Amino acid sequence: MSLVVQKFGGTSVASTAHIQSVAEKIIQARQRGQNVVAVVSAMGDNTDRLAELAKEVNFSGMSAKREIDVLLSTGEQVTIAILSMMLMKLGCQARSFTGGQVGIVTDDSHTRARILEVQPDKLLEAIKRGEVPVVAGFQGVNHQGDITTFGRGGSDTTAVALAAVLEADECQIFTDVEGVYTTDPRVVDRARLMDRVTFEEMLELASLGSRVLHARAVEFASKYQVPLRVLSTFVEGRGTLITKEDELDMEQPIISGIAFTKDEAKLTVLGVEDVPGVAWKILGPISEANIGIDMIVQNVSADNTTDFTFTVSRDDYQEAMDLLNRVANDVGAREVSGDNKIAKLSIVGVGMRSHAGVATKMFQVLADRSINIQMISTSEIKISVVIAEEYIELATRALHSVFELEEEKEKKYLKLGL
Ligand code: ASP
Ligand code: MG
Repeated sequence: MSLVVQKFGGTSVASTAHIQSVAEKIIQARQRGQNVVAVVSAMGDNTDRLAELAKEVNFSGMSAKREIDVLLSTGEQVTIAILSMMLMKLGCQARSFTGGQVGIVTDDSHTRARILEVQPDKLLEAIKRGEVPVVAGFQGVNHQGDITTFGRGGSDTTAVALAAVLEADECQIFTDVEGVYTTDPRVVDRARLMDRVTFEEMLELASLGSRVLHARAVEFASKYQVPLRVLSTFVEGRGTLITKEDELDMEQPIISGIAFTKDEAKLTVLGVEDVPGVAWKILGPISEANIGIDMIVQNVSADNTTDFTFTVSRDDYQEAMDLLNRVANDVGAREVSGDNKIAKLSIVGVGMRSHAGVATKMFQVLADRSINIQMISTSEIKISVVIAEEYIELATRALHSVFELEEEKEKKYLKLGL
């Protein structure tokens, strides 16, 4: 019998009526002869509401984070109980499990914990008994048995981790969109639903804010080669399959998608001495505070001093700025400056490997529209630029059209005979 992990996000379980549809979907899969493990998010915007409660108390620090995890993890616990009862009412055996109960063990970093191991015995026993295990997403326990959570959107990661250890045939992420698009359809109305995309591309698209999948979930899926499908809870369809590159048998378009994130901020340390150890002294405290650093640029020095710029997520801007002001003296900096009205835009595609001139074309499109590029970074399959936030939609639309994303996709569909 095949096994699928089905994950349902917040909008898919927003009410008991929604949960009934989810239960029916699960039952349909069972009727098709599949074993199902369900993973769910908190109902609707419950996690936001719980987070608001914590904000009202306005207490921060390490011990607050432990309690925030206890608090936020309750959202998912509500859903597992309701969905399990709904399944049983509809005649399907089911049982709810918290992250800890299914042996999801994480490290100690509260509110952004990483999974260390999963002990699947309990799940396997439940499956053997013919039950649908209904697992709370987004949570685990550390070695002390304290509840941890994986960061917002982390239920996807739970689903993929379970699919990996159970060697599921597919991990299906049911959500409120029909799959992965070439870019955000709210910005470009001719954005196309992709039939397939590689793990590598998806990783870039996810981490760059295509808002469909938790980046860590894609990392996991890629590492353990779990076929991952994103599809809609509300509209019938095959969604988008995220898979290995060698399973894409059609010719790849040069660019597969365009991703952007608006919630970025940039910090610059001006006039630091150009001596060994500077980057480490500047970024050390930032990493220690567990603040993710994205792009880094250091200028060539002209007079033995240099400027050092990096980006963080906008939420971390103030904390990073405070930390920098503290180290500024140490590294002999003239000034620390910052800008939290920036955005990052990236064009992504494995096809870039075999095509020269992609960057030039991108820069020309931006130049033609008088959009200033503040930072650039590249990898084998992606080119990212930092620009002022106000231009992000204009830039995305222009690039989507110049790189003929719609047209390439049409060709691809023809090739597949769809
Ligand atoms: N409920 C959590 C959140 O809203 C986790 C998730 O839905 O994936 O971020
Ligand atoms: Mg989500």
